Amino acid sequence: MAEKRDYYEVLGVERNADADTIKKAYRKAAIKYHPDKNPGDKEAEDKFKEAAEAYDVLSNDDKRARYDRFGHAGMNGAGGAGGFGGFSGGGFSMEDIFEQFGDIFGGAFGGGFGGFGGGRSRQPRQSRGSDIRVTVKLSLKEIAEGVTKKLKINKTVACSKCGGTGAKDSASYATCSRCNGSGYIVTVQDSFFGRMQTQSVCPECHGTGKVIKNKCEQCGGEGTERGQEVIEVNIPKGVAEGMALTVRGRGNAARQGGVNGDLIVVIEEEHNPELVRDGNDLAHTLNITVTTAILGGEVEVPTIEGRVRIKIAPGTHAGKVLRIRGKGLPDVNGRGRGDIKVLVDITIPGELTKEERSLIEKLAEQPNFKQPEKVENQNILERMKSFFRG
Ligand SMILES: [Zn+2]
Ligand SMILES: [Zn+2]
Repeated sequence: MAEKRDYYEVLGVERNADADTIKKAYRKAAIKYHPDKNPGDKEAEDKFKEAAEAYDVLSNDDKRARYDRFGHAGMNGAGGAGGFGGFSGGGFSMEDIFEQFGDIFGGAFGGGFGGFGGGRSRQPRQSRGSDIRVTVKLSLKEIAEGVTKKLKINKTVACSKCGGTGAKDSASYATCSRCNGSGYIVTVQDSFFGRMQTQSVCPECHGTGKVIKNKCEQCGGEGTERGQEVIEVNIPKGVAEGMALTVRGRGNAARQGGVNGDLIVVIEEEHNPELVRDGNDLAHTLNITVTTAILGGEVEVPTIEGRVRIKIAPGTHAGKVLRIRGKGLPDVNGRGRGDIKVLVDITIPGELTKEERSLIEKLAEQPNFKQPEKVENQNILERMKSFFRG
């Protein structure tokens, strides 16, 4: 699949565009590339879908915030098309678009003036099950390596007796008498603009065009029942708190064999007291003794893979930042790995034995331990700031 274009670029709006601007931009694009205006034009169809996908994300505050923060990776958890089993690479079918954004065409399409869109929207529509949101807590190690989680989900599933149709048997159906099987009801109104036709979904058959004469006894005709499913979710490495991965079609089942909802897996990070996440970097505060600070030495620091020993140079000041390159978290888009930033702090003993006190007092008389006239060290506050800036 070709590299995905930036959603703002697709709609031709600024990154800070408001909801109204985004809606207008999408409407313009949708009308320009509408399949009824560009029959058989594959490029127009792709552009039409691309615009719908961009609008889907940018018109939703939650999705837009995620996109702003994580880019396309934040939308489906996958860096590319289908790279991680279980996640769809985003993308819409034409049906999805008309289902979700049909109203944006207003009078121009969707059957309003009878000229456009008639044939397309007359297909019987299917009901859709609701989405299920679950939270998955991950350790740093799981985030670093990627992980497959088996999630036990309580959900609506297809009725085990009728297989989801809601009917007793295949002879139980009759054509809906209200809409004569079309699934739609057409009303004609006289208005200022002349005669207007409006289509709406048949309330009797919910757009299927069929009604069930003999209902399944187990589900009472709904086609669903409560159940449980164990779903394996592949979580790519480098994900972050708040990212959501969509597993298409694994949400709640719809009534009478419609389209399943999605399973949305929201990532939560387990708190790690030693390694604090800062983007793809990890921050660790290291306490060393006064003597190690002065004389240098080797100390242990935690990494995702376990503890490692690092060298402390003689004369190390508090506030110094040591970097362990490439030991941070992998980038979710596959762009390398972050570092571990180690912030040095010096532990000063609170209580001293008699002997220690006399040694320190002796030390204090030595020339290198006198209060300097001019402080050469960078201000500790500045060091702290540069630590957090990276
Ligand atoms: Zn049933
Ligand atoms: Zn009907």
